[in-house]
Amino acid sequence: MIKYDYLIVGAGLFGAVFAHEATKKGKKCLVIDKRDHIAGNIYTEKVEGINVHKYGAHIFHTSNKTVWDYINQFADFNNYINSPVAIYKDELYNLPFNMNTFSKLWNIKTPKEAKDIIEKQRKEAAITEPKNLEEQALSLVGRDVYEKLIKGYTEKQWGRACTDLPSFIIKRLPLRFTYDNNYFNDRYQGIPIGGYTQIVEKLLEGSEVLLSTDFFEFKEGHPDIAERIVFTGMIDEYFEFKLGNLEYRTVRFENEILDEENFQGNAVVNYTEREVPYTRIIEHKHFEFAKDENGNSIPKTVISREYSTEWKPGIEPYYPVNNDRNSDLYNKYKELADKEENVIFGGRLGHYKYYDMDKVIEAALECVSSELK
Ligand code: FAD
Ligand code: UDP
Repeated sequence: MIKYDYLIVGAGLFGAVFAHEATKKGKKCLVIDKRDHIAGNIYTEKVEGINVHKYGAHIFHTSNKTVWDYINQFADFNNYINSPVAIYKDELYNLPFNMNTFSKLWNIKTPKEAKDIIEKQRKEAAITEPKNLEEQALSLVGRDVYEKLIKGYTEKQWGRACTDLPSFIIKRLPLRFTYDNNYFNDRYQGIPIGGYTQIVEKLLEGSEVLLSTDFFEFKEGHPDIAERIVFTGMIDEYFEFKLGNLEYRTVRFENEILDEENFQGNAVVNYTEREVPYTRIIEHKHFEFAKDENGNSIPKTVISREYSTEWKPGIEPYYPVNNDRNSDLYNKYKELADKEENVIFGGRLGHYKYYDMDKVIEAALECVSSELK
């Protein structure tokens, strides 16, 4: 029996924005998630008075004012600016690649000196049209930055040689010749005060939500529960992997509560050498300036070491690996998806795209508005 207009698979950001907008238009939505909590990968939970980003550090940043205004309806944002530091062996560098990085690396002061060194290294690399991440990195920042700050980190993060990765991944990082450690170029940036989960809670008001419910089991008993389905899980899993597996990277988090006030002095510290097995350490309290909600300091701290691994069935997929093989395979699944009547695919896993949160909101708003026009 049809009871809902939409069955939304996934209580992450895409599913929740879709549900919110559809509910506002008078549609009845049932949202299911196989996890035992809402919010998908942006889920945050309080530990020792600190909002812990359970599935990895999430910094909201966007240049899209509509998206910024949209998300600000559901939380107040603080003025956090992401400025990670990178540790390579016993050397410490500022990120993204900027004058602080270059000055430390080459003991220079001016943008001209930095540009001259990079230009010389670029010429030595002699790359005209970068075909992969390594060539892209060498032609953007030269060999020193590539060897110390990119190669080891990227190969740990993606489990593949930099020559087998698409160049767009490295273009996510700004390169500047100013003393500016802001990791993003976007106009708006911050962390929601009190965490992300409350945002999704508010987005889901008015929808029915069933947790610990896997779609593939649920649909057996409820084949006709809704007119339409919004599916934000893995697109290849939806089609029972019949054309082959898309590859994903996942992250294992090793969390520790420490009896000290300040472990590393920054929210994000990257370990860029290959030999250190984790990619970065997150110290969550620094996302909210190390204060609790009443503005008091917190005696303990929570840290997470991130270990990147290849996805296997049974664990959470995080990053699509958008190389040629997977992009071709995705396009084939997309053809099947386009023929699937009454099912809309969305989100990072449904679109197999390295979406940031703002892009997910944009995509969900666009999707719901074309659906309900
Ligand atoms: P998800 O959050 O993955 O939600 C999909 C939901 O569907 C999940 O809850 C899942 O359990 C559920 N689901 C899947 N299959 C089924 C099924 N068969 N049955 C029922 N439920 C199912 N973005 C930024 O803007 N800034 C950042 O700093 C940032 N950092 C990140 C760090 C990490 C480690 C990762 C992995 C991502 C980061 N992102 C960041 C991206 C951000 O997490 C995503 O853009 C966003 O969470 C995607 O939302 P979504 O709804 O598409 O996917
Ligand atoms: N990267 C790097 N060194 C760093 C940080 C990032 O080489 O210290 C590269 C790496 O390939 C990574 C990409 O830049 O996958 C994008 O980094 P970002 O911080 O955007 O990754 P995310 O937060 O999505 O994990």
